[in-house]
Amino acid sequence: MGLTQPLGAAPVALVTGSTSGIGAAIARRLVADGYAVVLHGRGAAATGDALAAELGLAAYVQADLAQDADRVRLVRAAAAVWGRLDVLINNAGISRVIPHADLAAATPEVWRELYEVNVVAPFRLVAEAASALREAARRGRPGCVVNVSSHAGVRPKGASIPYAATKAALNHMTRLLAVALAPDIRVNAVAPGLVDTPMTANWTEAQQIWRERAPMRRAASPGDIAQAVAMFVTSDYLTGEILLSDGGLNLT
Ligand code: NAD
Repeated sequence: MGLTQPLGAAPVALVTGSTSGIGAAIARRLVADGYAVVLHGRGAAATGDALAAELGLAAYVQADLAQDADRVRLVRAAAAVWGRLDVLINNAGISRVIPHADLAAATPEVWRELYEVNVVAPFRLVAEAASALREAARRGRPGCVVNVSSHAGVRPKGASIPYAATKAALNHMTRLLAVALAPDIRVNAVAPGLVDTPMTANWTEAQQIWRERAPMRRAASPGDIAQAVAMFVTSDYLTGEILLSDGGLNLT
């Protein structure tokens, strides 16, 4: 773990999967908004430490979110860096591209793999972080969880049926947790449509759909999604909301 700044009074946010794509944009945005950020990734420390050094008020913790012991270790390490945890952004996720009609390709192994990382991991991170997030409420602002789900969890779309079903589960879990943890902890989700990240660089068909059919005529940038996440973080009131961030594609 690389720590680049001394203890401060800034609120602290843990952003999972934040060495690339949407997560990195969220981390950058929260640092710009005055948060100390705990970066997380699956890979070796070099990439995470370099981003932490670039961002300033940031530290990096490695953890494999498919492993429960790593989930527990991640939350404990994140809360220990600056002695508090105010915000948890469950951004890490995995996808598998499988045509929806190819039922045989959606094997039990695919279902279990996606469910562990996209559903069980965010739930376990919230469970492990709940007491630290409640402390935030005692300091004056509710703790905050934002889950990054997908438009595929709202509409019958997406890279594969198992992927879409995990994101639908994450959306419903968001609402259930919002009720269970109120008023001390707010829980919301941002559900992006297509976002320009390395993961979607060769998704040419989806890119064409967004250019031609989405009212905004483009896919989202990672910064667009970070802005939506920051809106939930800024709020003291919103909870249980699923914010579809698809440039209006669902309207057409
Ligand atoms: P990405 O691949 O750049 O980011 C995913 C991150 O999750 C990576 O940092 C990866 O290391 C991490 N991760 C995956 N499995 C992990 C594991 N077992 N342990 C630890 N970390 C793990 O892709 P992205 O597009 O930035 O995706 C971020 C989130 O946004 C995901 O939840 C994804 O489902 C969601 N999303 C993306 C799009 C899109 O078009 N890119 C659309 C809708 C939703």
